[in-house]
Amino acid sequence: MIIALKNSIRTEEQEHLIQWLESQGVRVHISVGEFQTIVGLVGDTTRIDTDLIRGLTFVDSVTRISEPFKKANRKFHPDDTVVKVNGGAAAFGGGAFSLIAGPCSVESEAQVETIARAVKESGACVLRGGAFKPRTSPYDFQGLHEEGIRILSEVKKLTGLPIITEIMDIAHLPLFDDVDIIQVGARNMQNFELLKELGRTNKPILLKRGLANNIKELLMSAEYIMAGGNEQVILCERGVRTFETYTRNTLDLSAVAVLHELSHLPVVVDPSHATGAARYVKPMALAAAACGADGLMIEVHNDPPHALCDGPQSLTPEQFDDVAKAVRKVREAIS
Ligand code: PEP
Ligand code: MN
Repeated sequence: MIIALKNSIRTEEQEHLIQWLESQGVRVHISVGEFQTIVGLVGDTTRIDTDLIRGLTFVDSVTRISEPFKKANRKFHPDDTVVKVNGGAAAFGGGAFSLIAGPCSVESEAQVETIARAVKESGACVLRGGAFKPRTSPYDFQGLHEEGIRILSEVKKLTGLPIITEIMDIAHLPLFDDVDIIQVGARNMQNFELLKELGRTNKPILLKRGLANNIKELLMSAEYIMAGGNEQVILCERGVRTFETYTRNTLDLSAVAVLHELSHLPVVVDPSHATGAARYVKPMALAAAACGADGLMIEVHNDPPHALCDGPQSLTPEQFDDVAKAVRKVREAIS
């Protein structure tokens, strides 16, 4: 971090600033120029509040050289993190690629079982299904809650597929004992108390990018989980909100490349919520596989027109099978 001081700074103000910076655990290098004094900070600057320094009357500018995320940063952890689920039944990162598939929401045991058997046959190794649904309208189907998790758990027993489902309230955590990956949805990406609590668990967390959050903010949210001791974080690009209206969101595939550069954490792409339309899921899934995603999360429903949530973006099991085959070909082509 570099702090440029104004010429008008008094000696005691400068000394006081340096003392305070050193007390924050960083080393301070002063370079006195003709027009400006530059203070260079070396060491872990993650805890330094840049806004506080910027607000001082004698400070001209503050520039961060290193990113404020540390545990998620590839600089401090050059090798890819591989997140293994259920002892390796599924794995993400470091060359491992897994397909997550299932309905937007759990509707009944028969529905989840039918879909689970079909997607497993096509190569999916994690079953998804929302039990607590974050809906824009309070009058829309909110999910089966505890019963939804019970159904997922039952279908896990029947099929052997690990399960992923979204948590919306930390008070529900005891219900997630049998859940293999806990999903943090886009709307909760910056629910910091929830992230901190998940940092104290030992389960893999799939963290979805917020609707209007940039890549740094996604990594800072991963940092919240990791700072608590849980380093099994899978990042998920699911599209961000832009001025475009032909798609539900705008899939930012460049995020996959950028996240892989900045972080060692695996990156999964969700082309279903990104586009909102079943017909765009295949091309985006292929593009995601081609640009190096470590997995895909795709919504599949046995009867999309009658789905209680997100029917228009849901693939039928047959369509999913076609996508899974094509994704395998792309993976072979780029390997
Ligand atoms: C979901 O995956 O069920 C979901 C609600 O997605 P998002 O949080 O990305 O909107
Ligand atoms: Mn959905």
